[in-house]
Amino acid sequence: MITVVGSINMDLVIQTDHFPKQGETTLGNLYTTVPGGKGANQAVAAARLGTAVQMIGAVGQDAFGTELLTGLEAEGVQVQNVKQSEGASGIANILLSQGDNRIIVVPGANHSVTVEEINAFAEKLADSDLVIMQLEMPIPVIQRTLEICHKNGVPAILNPAPASGFTADFLPFCTYLTPNETEAEELFGGNWEKALLDYPNRLVVTLGEKGAQFYDGEKHVIVEGFPTTAVDTTGAGDTFNGALAAALAEGQDFEAAVRFANAAASLSVEKFGAQGGMPDRKAVNERLK
Ligand code: ADP
Repeated sequence: MITVVGSINMDLVIQTDHFPKQGETTLGNLYTTVPGGKGANQAVAAARLGTAVQMIGAVGQDAFGTELLTGLEAEGVQVQNVKQSEGASGIANILLSQGDNRIIVVPGANHSVTVEEINAFAEKLADSDLVIMQLEMPIPVIQRTLEICHKNGVPAILNPAPASGFTADFLPFCTYLTPNETEAEELFGGNWEKALLDYPNRLVVTLGEKGAQFYDGEKHVIVEGFPTTAVDTTGAGDTFNGALAAALAEGQDFEAAVRFANAAASLSVEKFGAQGGMPDRKAVNERLK
């Protein structure tokens, strides 16, 4: 069982010809709501691959909260440990115009999760094959989850996104760290390749279409991406993380797990939406051939 301690949001997506200027009102072309949040996205990515997944987190007591829970359940993600807290669910307000975007995330219920609640889930975390986290939850919640995993020898993936939430205090407790290139620069500076040397088979930097890079204890390894026609790269990183978690929980070695994650993520960019393009196991196996 993989446990995801992470965010669950509703993405409110507006497509418009141009972004409104300060004080201006414009008419948009299209409005859609799609489930998102890095935690939920990564949980769905792993579940689509046939992995047992449970989530720990929170949605609000609003209509979005109920819709988000139903959606996760339909994907096979266990949500018994997701609370419905007072107030609004987390949302991401996404404006899209001419290939550009402007996004405001309001954490809402996601930030109502407490360290006490994580302590109450300690046994569930300890029984997990692997735990995965991102940085859209309160920092103390992430720190406590990492400590519980570390104490119980449960492998923990920290996807340090958004990187602004990262603190070096996390480092001794993470088994795996999965920044993209921009996040790696924020965490380790321009010379992140040097940081790879300190975390062999633990720190992997995703490089978009180029794939991903890590250090295996003897040499730098670039696991090449799978060339494809990208339609929408939203959620590529989330698919990579969910698939990496699934592969590592199954006992695949690190390089094979990264290759599996590249294959899954390359499929995800072929369709619109973060969760829309996440592949099932059959599709990933086909791509790996
Ligand atoms: P993020 O989505 O977090 O910014 P990346 O852009 O590094 O992260 O993408 C994550 C992974 O998704 C990459 O390691 C790669 O496997 C896959 N990927 C991303 N973009 C493409 C692409 N255009 N073609 C094929 N694979 C891609």
